[in-house]
Amino acid sequence: MRSFTDEGAGERIVFGAGTIAEVPTELDRLGSARVLILSTPQQADLAARVATLVGDRSAATFTGATMHTPVEVTRSAVELAGDRRADGIVSVGGGSTTGLGKAITVRLGLPHLVLPTTYAGSEVTPVLGETVDGVKTTRSGPEILPDTVVYDVDLTTTLPWDLTVTSAINAVAHAVEALYAEGVTEAVTREAVDAITALATGLRALQAAEPAAVLDARADLLYGAWRAGRCLAAVGMGLHHKLCHTLGGTFDLPHAPTHTVVLPYAMAYNAAAAGAAMGRVAAAIGADDAPAGIQSLVRDLGGPTALGKLGFRRADIGRAADLATAKPYPNPRPVTRDGVVDLLERAYAGAPVAAVAA
Ligand code: NAD
Repeated sequence: MRSFTDEGAGERIVFGAGTIAEVPTELDRLGSARVLILSTPQQADLAARVATLVGDRSAATFTGATMHTPVEVTRSAVELAGDRRADGIVSVGGGSTTGLGKAITVRLGLPHLVLPTTYAGSEVTPVLGETVDGVKTTRSGPEILPDTVVYDVDLTTTLPWDLTVTSAINAVAHAVEALYAEGVTEAVTREAVDAITALATGLRALQAAEPAAVLDARADLLYGAWRAGRCLAAVGMGLHHKLCHTLGGTFDLPHAPTHTVVLPYAMAYNAAAAGAAMGRVAAAIGADDAPAGIQSLVRDLGGPTALGKLGFRRADIGRAADLATAKPYPNPRPVTRDGVVDLLERAYAGAPVAAVAA
């Protein structure tokens, strides 16, 4: 079983099974004696467990975290932190809860400890997406990066299979786009390949796992999520992330499932212009062709493969393509409106990705 601590990237990482027990010691390190504990309503029991664990250090629990970090929710949580004189924030959950933790700590300048329970990777990025009046904006800065991440593999065992698949493919997407990002370094390339290998291995192992092997498979997935999150933090993302941001922000599609459907199509779009990156992905997942290999991996795991099935309407393809091509950004192949319309038509229907490459 993987178990380690790391301090190489400006934040402290504590990784292993049962590491939740380290939270009181880690709060001491941060100098936090009165923390506000955050979760979604669905994970209120887990927040209560953390509150019991930290005892007197628990100033209050706020269980209203929600997708896309709406500023009204942040305002209520900031008020509670002030009323209870909190001197630290503990976020326990997925990217939505971590987002709320970032939004509070950046406003109040408090230390932030995260216990991730999905594979989103937000806990290791200096990026915060917030929604004001229904419009999602993103900002970034070193003060947004959490201070300590306690990766407890045990906390991920409750993640349902469908979320496990989509969240892990969301992480794969960070690493794939890092491989063909502008200014990618040798270190990021190694980290991305390591992430994709661990995530693909973990997903296949978990699908086949006897109960005794579940924790090892979950450890691979969480480790891969950490490495993939670091890739997301290190370099700018391309077509895949920009398109998913539009589909999630404007058309309210679910975050991780949208990434899961779009990834093979975005890869196929870029394949001819990013041959070396595709070769690395194919080798890491044990496939001949990277986009088709990712699509069959998702199919084999029973993950979503068509945007139409996620609630996206065919009539919105044109508007989505307009929005996704409104501002230029680095991408291996130039991003054109026609190209994005074609990609979305195929992703809407769940067409075999080999057809895109052809
Ligand atoms: P999420 O945090 O919205 O969680 C989805 C649901 O799963 C929630 O109901 C949650 O309570 C539940 N859940 C989480 N872990 C669980 C577990 N172990 N067992 C049972 N239920 C569990 O989903 P997400 O995909 O982790 O995060 C998505 C959000 O994170 C999006 O808003 C996205 O924009 C953001 N994000 C931000 C960054 C960044 O770097 N800023 C990176 C990735 C994602």
